[in-house]
Amino acid sequence: MPELPEVETIKNELVPHIVGRRVTGVTLCWEGVVRKPSVEEFRSRLIGKTITGLSRRGKYLIFSLSSGEALIIHLKMTGSLLLKPASAEPDKFDRAIVYLDGETELHFRDPRKFGAMWLVNDVNSVVAKLGPEPLDENFSPQVLLERLAKRKAPVKALLFDQNFIAGIGNMYADETLYDARIHPLRSGASLSQEEVERLHHSIQEVLLAAIGNKGASVDTYFRPGGELGTAHFEFRVAHGLGGKLCQRCGTPIERILVRNRGTYFCPKCQPQN
Ligand SMILES: [Zn+2]
Repeated sequence: MPELPEVETIKNELVPHIVGRRVTGVTLCWEGVVRKPSVEEFRSRLIGKTITGLSRRGKYLIFSLSSGEALIIHLKMTGSLLLKPASAEPDKFDRAIVYLDGETELHFRDPRKFGAMWLVNDVNSVVAKLGPEPLDENFSPQVLLERLAKRKAPVKALLFDQNFIAGIGNMYADETLYDARIHPLRSGASLSQEEVERLHHSIQEVLLAAIGNKGASVDTYFRPGGELGTAHFEFRVAHGLGGKLCQRCGTPIERILVRNRGTYFCPKCQPQN
């Protein structure tokens, strides 16, 4: 699933190609991709508008429009946004195609169909509940400490809870906890101030490194030009590295389930007590 580094990469690489472009048409290959408003309204309110900006909030992409409205896209499990030249052949997994002036098309490809689009007046009607942005300058160790206090849930589950902190999913939660040497089942409230500071540092380090590598191309993630990211080559535990040896201490990486998510960690570097 695309997480913050993948969505940030997509945003960064789309901006030079789509900001300032006008929407000249929309094809919905699968109408279920539109959550709000009705399909007819979605088309009529989007066509003719110019994209004035593109930003990211958590794992959501927010396209600002000249009408004051916003097109919001969530890629969920398997979505990608691909830039193609005019009249490109649709892929069998394309769910929507947005045609832009300047001979560009934006194809929303999504094999598993969990992805979604909204056209809204108020962005907060979709993203209001999200937790803080982990790379925002206001996200300090103190903010993280306050959010963890009183939380009995496993820290791994808190990290992938979008209302606790936005943008982190299963892969980067595992990488972050390995980097911070914190066991995934430790409760949020049990972390010492020093551990929280380490965790805060690791969250930012891991996400920034992955953005630097243009995201992780596990499963179906592609960058807008169709290229792959390379962040997964630097994974130390995440995404199926169970049984591999810990790079720090040589202990086999273990797999457990945390809230039903496959979770990888080093039992020696990340002790439970
Ligand atoms: Zn280890």
